[in-house]
Amino acid sequence: MPLAASVLIDGPSELVFDYAIPDHLKILPGCRVRIPLRNREATGTVLRVQEVAQTEFDLRYLTSLVDPEPLITPALLKLAEWITSYYGTPLEQVIRSIIPASIRGEKTSAKIRKAAILAKTPTESDLAQLAKRAKRQHQIITLLSIAAKPIPITELGGASTSSSIKTLTEKGWVKVINLEVRRDPDANETFLPTDPLTLNEEQGEAYKTISKSLHSENPKPILLHGITGSGKTEVYLQATRTALKLGKNVIILVPEISLAPQTVQRFKARFHDLTDQIAILHSNLSQGERFDEWHRIRAGKARIVIGARSAIFAPVKDPGLIIVDEEHEPAYKQENPPKYHARDLAVVRCNLEKCTVVLGSATPSLETFQNTQLKKYQMVKMNERADGASLPLTRVVDMRIEAKKHKGRDAIISDILRSSVEKRIEANEQVIIFLNRRGFARSLQCPPCGHVIECNHCAIPLTYHRGDERLVCHVCGFQSIVPRLCPNCQDPAIRFQGYGTEKAETILRKVFPSAKIARLDTDTTRRKNTLRDTLRDFRAKKINILLGTQMIAKGLDFPNVTLVGVLNADLSLYAPDFRAGERTFQLLTQVAGRSGRGKMAGEVIIQTSTPHSPSIQFARHHDFDGFVAQELNIRQQFQYPPFTHLALLLARSSHERRAEFTLQTLHRKLAEDLPDNVILGDPIPSPLTKSHSQFRFQLLMRGPNARVLSHHLNKILRATPTPEDVIVTADLDAYDLG
Ligand SMILES: [Zn+2]
Ligand SMILES: [Zn+2]
Repeated sequence: MPLAASVLIDGPSELVFDYAIPDHLKILPGCRVRIPLRNREATGTVLRVQEVAQTEFDLRYLTSLVDPEPLITPALLKLAEWITSYYGTPLEQVIRSIIPASIRGEKTSAKIRKAAILAKTPTESDLAQLAKRAKRQHQIITLLSIAAKPIPITELGGASTSSSIKTLTEKGWVKVINLEVRRDPDANETFLPTDPLTLNEEQGEAYKTISKSLHSENPKPILLHGITGSGKTEVYLQATRTALKLGKNVIILVPEISLAPQTVQRFKARFHDLTDQIAILHSNLSQGERFDEWHRIRAGKARIVIGARSAIFAPVKDPGLIIVDEEHEPAYKQENPPKYHARDLAVVRCNLEKCTVVLGSATPSLETFQNTQLKKYQMVKMNERADGASLPLTRVVDMRIEAKKHKGRDAIISDILRSSVEKRIEANEQVIIFLNRRGFARSLQCPPCGHVIECNHCAIPLTYHRGDERLVCHVCGFQSIVPRLCPNCQDPAIRFQGYGTEKAETILRKVFPSAKIARLDTDTTRRKNTLRDTLRDFRAKKINILLGTQMIAKGLDFPNVTLVGVLNADLSLYAPDFRAGERTFQLLTQVAGRSGRGKMAGEVIIQTSTPHSPSIQFARHHDFDGFVAQELNIRQQFQYPPFTHLALLLARSSHERRAEFTLQTLHRKLAEDLPDNVILGDPIPSPLTKSHSQFRFQLLMRGPNARVLSHHLNKILRATPTPEDVIVTADLDAYDLG
């Protein structure tokens, strides 16, 4: 019977049409093809190939293949379908994010250079003759015979190269060929080889568990819960070697590009015999570099892929091991549609391809931890630092007392932190000062007593809206007026909290006039290479104090850092987000982990106006189990993830009323036949009320079943036309709550 292909046409209309396959074309699912569409030519992706009865055979023929081979592996095609059904994102859009633009488009291609290669081996006397009569030709022949491989003509350098090559070609010494040149993102880097380290007992156990899983037919996801400095990367490296020996390929995900070079460095140094087989995928690559790396992966030339979240779509055939480092990081969540979570996709992909997934973290997310409790995942723990060092001593400073001492002035640096910094600098040691500016939340806190005003129904801080002087709960919509006195201590000093890294830098420079201070945040790192250069200077001890946001909280390993100061732990703690406690615990644990990684003992000083808050106390005592136990309790009580799934619906527009009205309409329709157990919040202004000249309104839905939530939401969204100037977006398993 003849064959037909179902083709998803490129573009927003989500059209799927069947086309007959001409005999001379080999079409497989995942192939990119050109097809006739009405009276023009279009491109699309083949979803399925099936036999059709001769009688139905009045289909149009597809025209040609864009690429000779499928761009999407069968497993990735299944993953794309999973994303569509789970998040409700149209398949065409999903496929667009799986195949990068530089691969889909026909503008980028392999880089071809004319290269010279020896056509016959010169004898001693040939060379001697050439050396006498034609110096340049002799030079070129010598270079080519030393290299014993083709050399691009542009790289031969020197004068009169092209005429010399021409003569040599005519004489039959040299052949000119087309050579594909790789655009290597690390072309200018060198990697000093390293040998495997001896694993300690805990690392050995972790390695054994992963190795056993690599040999298993149906592996279960593994949570590698190892404290900061416990040597997780060494376990990853050795597990990767084992996977390669078994003939399998490996994907390593890191949460942020800034961490990629460090990981790439360690892998290239360890796999110095195989550096050609390591590919890098992240958004900082040029189109050409991405094109080359992607095709090296698909051709099976690169067997280790390191990248940020989108590397979960690397076209690796037969992956055996996928490692998600720092699995708790919100950076794994994609902010634009499809709003997937790369860690969750790693688990799905491993399930589809029967491969091992390792989720590594010192502070696992509650979602992942809960899955170990439900026995869906296995867990291995590493409770010791690999080099036997002890965790830093952590002190908590009560800023309410500092506020009294300094009579209402903003106390930014406590006396204890100031004298500790002075001591460390004198001893030639280094200091990291951390300020989480992302928690810019307009929550109200009373400086004298530390009290924060929360919603009674949702246990999250109310958000201050300046426009109408109201406090709003952005989970349920509860509203209240702004109190003039603190409800707890009746002090009128209550106000919204916060200062940024810029102000902190000014103060630090005043307090420590002779110290060398550098600041790292999204403002200072806008310039290319600032991050890399600053970290290099810090490593070279040219900087005494490094001040920064969460950018410096994780993964960095500086043995000379003996003090970490956290300026205002309350900033992240009282963000209007049910995950605020978890984020604070994670941030404090991660940032504390930067201290005392070398031979010298480390110290951490946390400044807060709520010193008894559980997140701070558990972080201070490095007590993950204690923290999770109490946090899971709260989550269950108020029905937050991991006990429910959560969807955020956002409407934004430059017309305030139209955005609000659209969301109210959607709210009414969502409420009409709300599935059982789904909690629907009221539409409210987003905490970020206005952004990019657009007014933002949002509502939250929660329910035990993600698909029920997603289907109901997408059904209503499809059935409800919205005004042209209002943009409505849905985010399932949202992390950024506005
Ligand atoms: Zn509430
Ligand atoms: Zn008070």
